[in-house]
Amino acid sequence: MSNPPLRIVSLSGGKDSTALYCWAIRQFGRDGFKAVFADTGHEHPVTYNYVRNLPMMAGGPDIQWVRADFSDRLAGKGIAASGNPFLDMMLWKGRAPSAKAQFCTEHVKLHPIRQWIENIRQDNEVNIYLGIRAGESPRRAKMPEREFSEFYDAEIIRPLLRWTEPEVFSFLAECGVPPNPLYALGFGRVGCFPCIHANKKELRLLPEWAWAKLEEWERRIGRSWFPPGVVPGVHIPAIADVRLWCKTDHGGRQMNMFCSDAKDVPSCMATWGACE
Ligand code: SF4
Repeated sequence: MSNPPLRIVSLSGGKDSTALYCWAIRQFGRDGFKAVFADTGHEHPVTYNYVRNLPMMAGGPDIQWVRADFSDRLAGKGIAASGNPFLDMMLWKGRAPSAKAQFCTEHVKLHPIRQWIENIRQDNEVNIYLGIRAGESPRRAKMPEREFSEFYDAEIIRPLLRWTEPEVFSFLAECGVPPNPLYALGFGRVGCFPCIHANKKELRLLPEWAWAKLEEWERRIGRSWFPPGVVPGVHIPAIADVRLWCKTDHGGRQMNMFCSDAKDVPSCMATWGACE
């Protein structure tokens, strides 16, 4: 008889993947699946705490934290690694990711997860469960509940595809698991802090330390975090320009920064459920 598939739940710390984790506990039991979280080195401390405490809050299995390691690639360029995956990725690439060059998802989320799966899969088939919902965007509405992924060499399953947002929150309440506190603070999504797809309103909410982090990272990579054109009239915006601009709210200037539809961000959230 063949082995049952290895079941993997991919977590981001957002409400949907948390609901998925709780769903998997009910469906498979706490020993019936494994959970993984890709630590980008660029998450909010609240999210780190939340993911750390989730097994205890939900009564589920330990969550495996995986991190990309760029030390060899940086050594090849004579650059010392910082140990922070997101910063090291930028040092290696010589720039920050952007909506037009969204290499972050692949390098700090998908590859480390795939590597971890490769290390543990042995001869097992693998089923990867993602907390993606059709109601989040027209693009996600077209996704199937199951499909095979060549990238992971695994079946991708989206059990929450037909769930609504209120159903997610009420399921979490039923399970006695509060959602990530960042939602209550006004953030619409959970992921890198800030994500390259952060909109003006989300930037306005950034605390001082997050701006200081971006300034420090700009200094380290020698390039602007923000792409040209974010701030009207400023070609290459400095952090100070963006900080001022994001507090303004005039008609057409109240736009998403890097993409035309922040609810349908490519690959990271929409396809892989790697960020919410
Ligand atoms: S959350 Fe945003 S910045 Fe982070 S990996 Fe995903 S797309 Fe990139």
